[in-house]
Amino acid sequence: MTDYNHSEIEKKWQKKWEEDRVFETKEQQGKEKYYCLVMLPYPSGNLHMGHVRNYVIGDVFARFHKMKGKNILHPIGWDAFGLPAENAAIKNKIHPAKWTKQNIARMREQLKVLGISYDWNREFATCTPEYYRWNQWFFIKMWERGLIFRKSANVNWCPSCNTVLANEQVLKGLCWRCDSRTQQRDLEQWFIKITDYADELLEEHKQLRGWPEQVLSMQKDWIGKSFGTEIEFAVTGTGKKLKIFTTRPDTLFGVTFIVVAPEHKIIDEMKSQIANYNEIEKYVIESGGKSNIERSSCKEKNGIRFEGINALNPATGKEIPIFTADYVLANYGTGAIMAVPAHDQRDWEFAKRYNIPVIEVIKSSNSCDGNQSDDKDVSEAEGVLVNSRQFNGIKSSEAFDIISEWVEKQGFGKKTTNFKLKDWLISRRRYWGTPIPMIHCKICGTVPVPEKDLPVLLPEDTEFTGEGESPLKSSKTFVNVKCPKCGMDAKRETDTMDTFVDSSWYYARYCDNRNDNAVFDSVKVNYWMPVNQYIGGIEHACMHLIYSRFWYKVMRDLCIVKPGEPFENLLTQGMVTLNGSVMSKSKGNIVSPDEIIEKYGADTARLFTLFAAPPQKQLDWSMEGVEGCLRFTNRIWRLFDVVHTKTEIPASEKDKNDILRIMHQAIKKVTVDIEKEFKFNTAISSVMELVNALYTYKYHSNDGGTSIEVYKTVILLMVPFTPHLCEEIWEKLGYKEYVSAYPWPAFDENVMKQYSVELPVQINGKLRGKIIVSAEDGEDEVKKIIEKDEKIASQLKGRQIAKFIYVKGKIVTIFVK
Ligand SMILES: [Zn+2]
Ligand SMILES: [Zn+2]
Repeated sequence: MTDYNHSEIEKKWQKKWEEDRVFETKEQQGKEKYYCLVMLPYPSGNLHMGHVRNYVIGDVFARFHKMKGKNILHPIGWDAFGLPAENAAIKNKIHPAKWTKQNIARMREQLKVLGISYDWNREFATCTPEYYRWNQWFFIKMWERGLIFRKSANVNWCPSCNTVLANEQVLKGLCWRCDSRTQQRDLEQWFIKITDYADELLEEHKQLRGWPEQVLSMQKDWIGKSFGTEIEFAVTGTGKKLKIFTTRPDTLFGVTFIVVAPEHKIIDEMKSQIANYNEIEKYVIESGGKSNIERSSCKEKNGIRFEGINALNPATGKEIPIFTADYVLANYGTGAIMAVPAHDQRDWEFAKRYNIPVIEVIKSSNSCDGNQSDDKDVSEAEGVLVNSRQFNGIKSSEAFDIISEWVEKQGFGKKTTNFKLKDWLISRRRYWGTPIPMIHCKICGTVPVPEKDLPVLLPEDTEFTGEGESPLKSSKTFVNVKCPKCGMDAKRETDTMDTFVDSSWYYARYCDNRNDNAVFDSVKVNYWMPVNQYIGGIEHACMHLIYSRFWYKVMRDLCIVKPGEPFENLLTQGMVTLNGSVMSKSKGNIVSPDEIIEKYGADTARLFTLFAAPPQKQLDWSMEGVEGCLRFTNRIWRLFDVVHTKTEIPASEKDKNDILRIMHQAIKKVTVDIEKEFKFNTAISSVMELVNALYTYKYHSNDGGTSIEVYKTVILLMVPFTPHLCEEIWEKLGYKEYVSAYPWPAFDENVMKQYSVELPVQINGKLRGKIIVSAEDGEDEVKKIIEKDEKIASQLKGRQIAKFIYVKGKIVTIFVK
């Protein structure tokens, strides 16, 4: 046999797969389907090792389940809108569409040399009108359902990107893309009412049994459901009431002041009653320049007291001061809090600073003195109520319900639920996104573009200056339009949509990507959905994976998909690192997929990324590891000649049984490791053992075809990992069919049992492990197996064996000194 020439072999099979449309797919009612999806890539222009890992993992699932006889949907496409294209337009004077198209072409070629089993017929880019017109269609459907609204909002502004950022795009006060410090600005924005679905998004976690616990808990925290009570505090001399949200109604009698966020509307409403309004106004302006993170993490809690007005604690009837302080955020609860300094650290610090009384209302069960808590640390522990009139003596854990009910009965409040999750700010003042399909008319107000006029196309005559206004404003052809209702001159909305919109429903479009008449055919979508296996990075735990789940539920309410969740199982793959640090262009520690594939081949690159670490764990790149994998692919290649060697000695039944047993064990291990455990590394190890066994087996060509059968099994088991190599050998073995479409081998527990025995191994009278041997094995062979068994061998290490007793087929007893 000739040398293993990976580049020739890989090109040959990639071409054949494409010509014969091996991975193209259609709905087949009645046939079990398997939808394998990797997260939609952004076409940055260069495939990196993180991508390679993600797609190779996806390919293992897709190829395995195809061989298991399922109808596979395994698509790929491009998350093609977004800021980098626009920045390139500003910098290099290249149109975002052109830049994006070039990048896609380049990445498509890079992907193709990896030999991933995509159905390329399903490919699309989200920046095309064929796709984004449906974003606009969804927007109008949501508008009709009251899920879209517009309001002026305090938003995060990145001065470097000149754009509005969603809260989740601000990390520690910095822009998530460029690390610039963000500012606050007040702008008119579009929102999607995702909060209408907050409860359901949390509740349906129950269905997501195939998701990592870590992702669920991150989402839970993000949605942030808390139970509490809304209580109204009257404002003296105004007839107005201040509504606060608290999760601790049990401490109501200990409330000694109120704090409102600087954005709270009371400040404006009571302008004339607030004696020190000028001072307050100055404070409000100053805090406007700070980010939320800065505001809540600042060590010194400072604020300003309102002169001239106070609040009344509805429980005690006592007058208490009102402050404004920027550690209270406008978007949490009602933007106002009741402060209980005896039982809250932050309130306590504030009270000390401004000399406000501290009233203890919970006596913790382990405190034994009756002193005022005034000069002690704050107690956030449970206990019994004190200083709370008729509620004294009640356990604080029970007081939550009792006091909430009392508050309701008294008519100054009610039990409520609060969420950290905020409505989704989707408007962006950018060009390279989906135009929001709305028209502003002086007479009719805001009017949606009629469905028949969709898509609203991105104009070509725009300027890319990098200034703050949306580039769409600079297009004469775009902005001016007739109102669809009254026909008068009107103006188009010039904001575009957040690109998270594009990736919130793309999984459904893959099921029917060429549809020009509808967003998709529900019959097709309902055949393929839900996604059986979704694969992507943990960094998408909150935004993308919450938006997509939300969008799916909206589609359900539009009656275009069946109820449920979009992603049944989720695998979050670990990062790829070099010497322990994340690969990045700026650090200059990139391993280029192109170079690796050219030198070692796609199969070896695939094998290494799967073998070096379990998929969920970090993968540290190692050239020695890659070399090792290349040696293994070569070993499989050369094994063809080995199993065809002529030999005169006939194989004994025992030898044949031995190798068959190892083969069935390997089939079982690989099957279970891929299907249930996602442990591709140990799956590959067990094929390595089988290959080793076949090299040491001496009776090739004279064993009634056993070794050829075992070799074929090796090839079948390796298809998900090294598909090109396997196709080439399969052809040499005389098959006309593609091994990629061949049935997965079955394992037979009976064969394994028939030929093998599980032996307990005792060392000095204690059970130390079990080994599997062939029923025919003698003492020498059993000794060899024990030496290879890590667990047992470690017990024997450095100790002298005094006695070794093997009771054939029953037990091994060893005595050591
Ligand atoms: Zn930025
Ligand atoms: Zn009008």
